[in-house]
Amino acid sequence: MRTAALVADRLRAAGLAVHTGVGGHGVVGVIDGPDPGPALLYRADMDAVAGDERYVSGFASQVPGAAHLCGHDLHTAIGVGVAETLARLRDRLAGRVVFVFQPAEETLEGARAMIDDGVLDRYPAREAYALHCAPLPVGVVAALPGAGLPGQDTCQVEFTGPGAAGTARQFLDRVGELATVTKPRSADDFAALVAALQTPDGPLAGFVFAESHLAQDGDPVVADVWLRVWPESRHAELRDRLRQLAAQAGAVVTFPGPPFPAMVCSTELSEAAATYLRDVPGVAEVMTARAAWPFNGEDFALFLHRVPGAMFWLGVADPGAGVNGITHAPDFAADERAIGVGVRAMAGLLLHRLRAA
Ligand SMILES: [Zn+2]
Repeated sequence: MRTAALVADRLRAAGLAVHTGVGGHGVVGVIDGPDPGPALLYRADMDAVAGDERYVSGFASQVPGAAHLCGHDLHTAIGVGVAETLARLRDRLAGRVVFVFQPAEETLEGARAMIDDGVLDRYPAREAYALHCAPLPVGVVAALPGAGLPGQDTCQVEFTGPGAAGTARQFLDRVGELATVTKPRSADDFAALVAALQTPDGPLAGFVFAESHLAQDGDPVVADVWLRVWPESRHAELRDRLRQLAAQAGAVVTFPGPPFPAMVCSTELSEAAATYLRDVPGVAEVMTARAAWPFNGEDFALFLHRVPGAMFWLGVADPGAGVNGITHAPDFAADERAIGVGVRAMAGLLLHRLRAA
């Protein structure tokens, strides 16, 4: 809420037309250039993660219990920086740029709330862009043509009767066997993962990542299961598999809702952006990811369902200085030099796309 108010103040001060309270605490800022042209959308998420920060920095969260473990504070700062940069260049703009500052990404509720509130109807856009912090070195930006982030599914499984606890543990082992990919545990694992990301039709062309644990060890015994699935067309098959495993264990499985969609970036727009980004000062390398990153989801997926566009990975790591850039790790740390890279890259890209027919 306080973040949304700060963002709105900065956007107003820069001269944008600002709309607050969009789908909750969402903020929209609009810049119209003097000449007609396309409308582009840029989305930044601005929520934190429950917990406390371990990384000591000048920009650590000051709020107990709210930690910037996914780098959304950088996303917010970059979004404001891009808006301020384009506002200074307003006289040269042909068209419109709509900045969407979105809350509640982590709970997968924020994008849906803003879209349900009509943000895409009131501000229709030809293309939509966003970026996310990633454990790549500062200066590296990755484009994800045809790739992105997996779909997500979750269920609860209840075991009752004698031996329920043992049966549940066996069930969790079976769920673990559905996984075709596991989180990297060493620098070598991570290097192999980065290589696989860049390999078309390689080991990550299709994958299942599974996490599960006992949420309740009493009567009933309850297991929580989360799956990340790529491509998302495999969700139905995996639900069937989970139902089978539960039936074999005499357990009852409940899916609280439909699977959450995968985020799939436009091949054409990602490749066009990659070509452009190679010439941006401060961008040392543009990596092309040909496969999805298996361990996270993203509700920007819902924007990309409505508007073609792309998300980029922004390197925020400095391994030599112990800055890991691993989002959602308890000791997540980001190098703030990445903010400057992100602002130059995204402001430049939006200007470039306004001129693209
Ligand atoms: Zn995030």
